[in-house]
Amino acid sequence: MSYESIVADDQKYIIQTYGRYPVAFARGEGAHMWDVNGREYVDLLAGIAVTSLGHCHPELVDVLSTQMQALWHTSNLVYTEPQTELARRLVGTTDHMSRCFFCNSGAEANETLIKLARRYMTRVKGREEAVDIITLSGCFHGRTFGALAATGRDSLADGFRPLPAGFKQVEAGNIEAMAAAIDEKTCAVLLEVVQGEGGVIVLDDDYVRAVEKLCRERDVLFCCDEVQAGMCRTGAFWAYQTCGVKPDIISMAKALANGLPMGGIMATEEVSRGFVAGSHGTTFGAGLLTSAVAARVVEIMQRDNLAERARVLGRRIMDRARAFMETHPGTIREVRGKGLFIGIELPSDAHKVWSDLLEAGYLCNLCHGSTLRLLPPLIITEDDVDAFMDALEARLLQESRA
Ligand SMILES: *Cc1c(COP(=O)(O)O)cnc(C)c1O
Repeated sequence: MSYESIVADDQKYIIQTYGRYPVAFARGEGAHMWDVNGREYVDLLAGIAVTSLGHCHPELVDVLSTQMQALWHTSNLVYTEPQTELARRLVGTTDHMSRCFFCNSGAEANETLIKLARRYMTRVKGREEAVDIITLSGCFHGRTFGALAATGRDSLADGFRPLPAGFKQVEAGNIEAMAAAIDEKTCAVLLEVVQGEGGVIVLDDDYVRAVEKLCRERDVLFCCDEVQAGMCRTGAFWAYQTCGVKPDIISMAKALANGLPMGGIMATEEVSRGFVAGSHGTTFGAGLLTSAVAARVVEIMQRDNLAERARVLGRRIMDRARAFMETHPGTIREVRGKGLFIGIELPSDAHKVWSDLLEAGYLCNLCHGSTLRLLPPLIITEDDVDAFMDALEARLLQESRA
């Protein structure tokens, strides 16, 4: 089918909730993709931080093919080895977490996190009033009702009210505001160490540590949304590990099964007591296909030390972008990021730069109109990264001469 007929069918048959990029991909390998016309692209988006091991990773194709021929789905009424293997491997990526629960997306993971936090506080701690979840300005936690209430952004909630009660938001980075917001009704603080949808806003390590300390002093739970920042992207297996904190619960999803839909939470032994048999459940959560793939994802990420790779390649991109910003004032406003989670903010509307890069065969994300968000697969090569930076710099030079 031609590109034009795909677009025509999309406009006819799909409920139009997405402003799509003008491209349809047909095939991928590693950090490269080919569109339906056979044109090659370098992928610096990874399906929004999802395909961290690249497209069609041979070991994942292998484990999926094997599992596909053995068994797909049995429900959570029975035990399965892929699910327990995945949980054991994930627990092995931390030095203080004990247990996992699996679901199917990032929003669902945050719903689970919120439910566990509330149930732990009200049933285990017996603090009936401690139900409020505090989040930060600029956050994004998902589109379902609880996650939407946590996100607290009017533009996303328009037309969907009433939202569930029990959510408060404070200014990110402002520790006094956090201290003032926590009271006897507070259940938990939930934050992203790097805010992705917010425009790649990196919270200060000291701020994150100060929030954790406040949570400990006031006896409220400290939770991290690792849906986008987790799984080696920021240069540690989990983004919270880059700040030296120990959250009570984290949520995960995007890169977990490298493109198969899967989410989950991980919690400490103590807080896991908040759920008992019947507290929560899902039909599809941790099916055999997604679990088998995710278990191998975790194994490969650790074996190949992809956290370190993200740190080194992230440095390479950010150092070069910052050097260019110095030598060519006015071309870049700010370079932000941690590992391979990078935002390059331009001084004005970046849409033309972004679309010219796409035209030149480089796929990245444009956020808030002026920030190029880079989330390349962690296996991207130095050559691909350098070629992208060459193209970006050439385009910015052209812009500054215009
Ligand atoms: C993408 C994202 C979500 C939502 O995940 P979905 O799978 O789209 O529901 C939640 N939190 C963060 C930080 C995200 O980046």
